[in-house]
Amino acid sequence: MSDIWNECIFDFRKIPTKCDNCGSEKVRYTTNDEVYGRIYGNGGCYICDDCKAYVGVHDTKNKLPLGRLANKELRNLKMKCHRLFDPLWKETKLKRVDCYGYLANKLGLHLRETHFGWFNKEYLEKSLIILNSVTYKDIQEYVIKRNEEKS
Ligand SMILES: [Zn+2]
Repeated sequence: MSDIWNECIFDFRKIPTKCDNCGSEKVRYTTNDEVYGRIYGNGGCYICDDCKAYVGVHDTKNKLPLGRLANKELRNLKMKCHRLFDPLWKETKLKRVDCYGYLANKLGLHLRETHFGWFNKEYLEKSLIILNSVTYKDIQEYVIKRNEEKS
């Protein structure tokens, strides 16, 4: 059986057993007051005892990670990406999924793996270059062209 995820570079749907940052197996589930000094959001996270990289969880029942365990450098890059990306759909009539679709297309990735929290340094930096020059019109044209190809 073919698995559509086989074609993906990034896949962070599973509970982490080793650190995505340093490769250590000393990854454990804990509460994020250990990171922030108080509980934020749902409070769950994974932390690496060797390099201190961490990641939050979707919810504290399934304990599934939001993405890769990240160090400060990756978290900063991710934040920069969101700062450029989020206004594209929050402050326009563009759909969020289409903005991700545009980015996935530019990066040569599948939509399902296109999450800033999943990207490594290379893809976050590639995203920043794309997002620094993208315009509303670029995405609008991408959506029109894509819909034409579908029909
Ligand atoms: Zn680590």
